[in-house]
Amino acid sequence: MPASEEEARLDALRRFDLLDGSFRDGFDRITRTACKLFDVPSAAVAITGRERHALRSTIGLELESVPRRALPGAWDGVTDRFVSVPDLLNSPYSKGELAHAGIRFYAAAPLTTVDGMTLGALCVMDREARAVSAEDVEALTDLAALLMEQIELHHSHGHVDISSGMPNRAQFIEDLEALAQRHPDERRLVAMIDLASPEQLMTSVRVMGTGYLDAIVQEAAGRLQGMMGPREKAYHVTGTQFACLAPPNTGDAAYRDCVTAHLQALRESTTARFVTTTTVGIAPFLLGRHKPLDVLRMAHNAAQDARLTDSRVAIYAAEQDAMHQRRFAILEAFGYALEHPEELSLAYQPRIDLGSGECRGVEAMLRWRSATLGSVSPAEFVPFVEQSAMIRSATALVLEMSLRQLAEWRAAGVALEMAVNVSAMNLLEHDFAHRLAALLAETGLDPSLLEIEMTESAFVGETNLMLSMLRTISALGVRLAIDDFGTGYSGLSYLQRLPAQTAKIDQSFIRNLATEAGNRAVVRATVSLCHDLGYRVVAEGVETKAALDLVTAAGCDEAQGFLFAEPLPPQSFIAWFKNREQAAPATPQPHTIAGAPVGCFAGQAIATGA
Ligand code: C2E
Ligand code: MG
Ligand code: MG
Repeated sequence: MPASEEEARLDALRRFDLLDGSFRDGFDRITRTACKLFDVPSAAVAITGRERHALRSTIGLELESVPRRALPGAWDGVTDRFVSVPDLLNSPYSKGELAHAGIRFYAAAPLTTVDGMTLGALCVMDREARAVSAEDVEALTDLAALLMEQIELHHSHGHVDISSGMPNRAQFIEDLEALAQRHPDERRLVAMIDLASPEQLMTSVRVMGTGYLDAIVQEAAGRLQGMMGPREKAYHVTGTQFACLAPPNTGDAAYRDCVTAHLQALRESTTARFVTTTTVGIAPFLLGRHKPLDVLRMAHNAAQDARLTDSRVAIYAAEQDAMHQRRFAILEAFGYALEHPEELSLAYQPRIDLGSGECRGVEAMLRWRSATLGSVSPAEFVPFVEQSAMIRSATALVLEMSLRQLAEWRAAGVALEMAVNVSAMNLLEHDFAHRLAALLAETGLDPSLLEIEMTESAFVGETNLMLSMLRTISALGVRLAIDDFGTGYSGLSYLQRLPAQTAKIDQSFIRNLATEAGNRAVVRATVSLCHDLGYRVVAEGVETKAALDLVTAAGCDEAQGFLFAEPLPPQSFIAWFKNREQAAPATPQPHTIAGAPVGCFAGQAIATGA
């Protein structure tokens, strides 16, 4: 037998769990029946392993295993024929283990799987020599077939999806593991067919009930099985997802075309085509290198990416996957950080009044040093956290830490104000204003000392609920700043509806101010528009003296940026603050703009502090 066939046979033994013998009970009944049927004292099930036959459910025989050559027939290989030896003593086996154990007569019928692999034999033995009749051959062969059916049935339990009758995820995993044993590192393709998006599934179940879903799945399963080529195998891996393993050496492009054609056929013929969108994700992988569950995950991700394409077919993209993995890791680790807030801290960046040159306030910036991910920038984690319920606890924590810090500084004679970044999602918390008011009361701070910053993009699709929360906050006396102004919104009409006092021009406009005439024009126009609307204007990201001069000339009221200081931990900030006070900085040229409003960070004298 060729080595690869023998390996496949051994794989099958492993798959059927016959090597370590969990199926003993079923064998016992069969060997008992064989003894009765043949009126012999001994019977056994021989499972042919790599070196030896394991003898199971033996009756009337003391042997547990014998070498492969010890059993008559072509047992040094494996025979798929019926074998009988009327008298071992008059055969080449006269000095073998069986004869030694007192056996004279031996007959065996092969145990062959549906796909033609012989796993062993059902044997009957007698201590007297005897002949076999045609009926004997038939009866033992039938009994062996019955035993094999039982083995396969036992195995299929837990390996077949009952709703579709197709091999399930457990079978997919087993098959991939078996393939990996035989063809390690071989490149293969798997396609995941996803019948509908989670929203579509939810809607169909709401409207039509679960029976409808079962019908869709069964219909698709039937169609898919009809489409499979002889060398392809399809699996029903989750409720509404199927996986197909492409034959070896299939090219990516060819498989994509083939899958697209299948998908088209499926789309044209299924009942649910108007209410669901079926997508296909294709994932290339290396046998043995990628775990079967990872292969499914990769194909699943590609099937989700396919939802955004016209063809509804996508090939797995590692970069996309890495992004999703990172996002997941961040969310998981951030959840941990909220329970272990020592991982979180605040850094404070000064805001400089361009009229007086003084620092009257700071912006609190969240800092996170994760035990598992190291330092993660808020620019990376905030956008993910914002889309989860964790933003509620995160903002609550930042507000609490920053306001307590502010109260402490003010108690020590450092008369600062505080700006805190808040997410749009926070405005949908019904008790947000209430908790904010409670915190202000508890810290004894005047609400006008707090400014909340919200990015301009947060106002895209602003709702009445958000506006009403902003008005409630504003009524408390807390101020509102529009952060990253100029980046997020196409229309400006929302500006009139917002109870905001400050606009912070995004750093992307400030960074190249000296070289980009366009940016200078944008900044000048923004300042003019914002002043007309009664806003105070802050230039963010001021890194150079040239930029400072330009934003001053453009009429900005305040500036913030690395030129003055980066966001600093509390002690470093206070050191910076005191140092700056002592150095009595040259006041930047006050600019005069008719009617320029005096806002949150203006007009406050700085106490010389403790
Ligand atoms: P932002 O509110 O616009 O904050 C300004 C960001 O620019 C900060 O980055 C700051 O460190 C950085 N920055 C300040 N001056 C300069 C400069 O001169 N040059 C350059 N290149 N960068 C400068 P950071 O701390 O990484 O924060 C990024 C964003 O994450 C923030 O942008 C804000 O949107 C968000 N964020 C930070 N902390 C919080 C928070 O507590 N809550 C919420 N919801 N968002 C936060
Ligand atoms: Mg900000
Ligand atoms: Mg900003």
